[in-house]
Amino acid sequence: MLKTSAYAAAAAGKPLAPYSFEQREPGPHDVLIDILYCGVCHSDIHQARDEWGGSIYPMVPGHEIIGRVRQVGQHVKKLKVGDMAGVGCMVDACRDCSSCRQDLEQFCLKGVAYTYNSTELDRKTPTHGGYASQIVVAEHFALKVPAGLDPASAAPLLCAGITTYSPLRQWNCKKGDRVGVVGLGGLGHMAVKFAVSMGAEVTVLSTSRAKEADARRLGAQAFEVTRDEATFKRLAGRLDLIIDTISAQHDYNQYLSLLRPQGAMVLVGVPPEPAPVAAFSLIGGNKRLAGSSIGGIAETQEMLDYCAKHQIVSDIEIIPIQKINEAYERMLKGDVRYRFVIDLASLSGANAR
Ligand code: NAP
Ligand code: ZN
Ligand code: ZN
Repeated sequence: MLKTSAYAAAAAGKPLAPYSFEQREPGPHDVLIDILYCGVCHSDIHQARDEWGGSIYPMVPGHEIIGRVRQVGQHVKKLKVGDMAGVGCMVDACRDCSSCRQDLEQFCLKGVAYTYNSTELDRKTPTHGGYASQIVVAEHFALKVPAGLDPASAAPLLCAGITTYSPLRQWNCKKGDRVGVVGLGGLGHMAVKFAVSMGAEVTVLSTSRAKEADARRLGAQAFEVTRDEATFKRLAGRLDLIIDTISAQHDYNQYLSLLRPQGAMVLVGVPPEPAPVAAFSLIGGNKRLAGSSIGGIAETQEMLDYCAKHQIVSDIEIIPIQKINEAYERMLKGDVRYRFVIDLASLSGANAR
């Protein structure tokens, strides 16, 4: 077994604190990655605080992982020792069901092994995420990080990146489309970058007036403050596609009113509480309300390669692991431009090898 140093939440109300755990030695199809950087996703906060229910403790969060391959099993083909590798939200799935065969491992019919707050496919061994010194993962679920991407700024691509790239692709975002991005946080700022790179005219809808200059720097053509009711009247029926990244409860009906007939709004943000949608918000205009969950492994690799080609990475603030609780509080205040990334060197040489 491999002794691994980490930070974990011991219970829902507890701050994250130093923790160590044992994980398996790499098997013939596994890779062992020394984690260099891990992005801090709002899903880490939702789960560490049990806002979605069913959290498993102690919990080592983190699913935006980048590191260097230290060891590979004898049958591993995709990666070799010394390669830069990524791990996102999943570490295993059956690879045989109809979802897995369609490269939609996130919908594995037998149940996905998520990177943390989950169990391995034995349904017993808890999985632990990237706020840690190292991770062992099945080769299939490790991504190749293309040369030319800065590893710290690329870490958030493993969740924030794929979660916004995938719905833009699913809804065929293209040149000239009018795309609204709701919420300018970690996911939102990636949605802006991707939509702009696909040729869309992007409008950012935000509660924070102070983010206007950033929105325009990221390539948005328009910026609207959603605290102002007049915004919803002015923009009514204007947008082809909306990507909603808001992490807290809000009125979906208001945003649906911004779509043109047959336009689509895709939810990627996961507020803990449900919110009502009026039938008339959809029926008037044949509007579509959809959701999107991360992306499969093949699409995640496609997204990383796309990012290398288009020079797209996340705007980040690097923190030592000791600042993680402070970072959570700052995220809840919207005080991050636009993703915290933990430098795991701050865990020090505590990694017992
Ligand atoms: P984040 O960086 O904290 O950004 C969330 C943004 O939402 C904030 O920056 C803020 O934008 C806006 N917001 C927050 N509270 C709000 C409120 N009460 N009313 C209106 N707007 C509010 O979070 P993130 O990491 O991007 O994650 C966003 C959500 O996506 C989370 O719920 C997360 O769990 C979810 N998620 C889903 C998937 C998936 O597969 N579907 C994957 C990853 C994350 P402004 O300041 O611009 O208003
Ligand atoms: Zn995430
Ligand atoms: Zn499956």
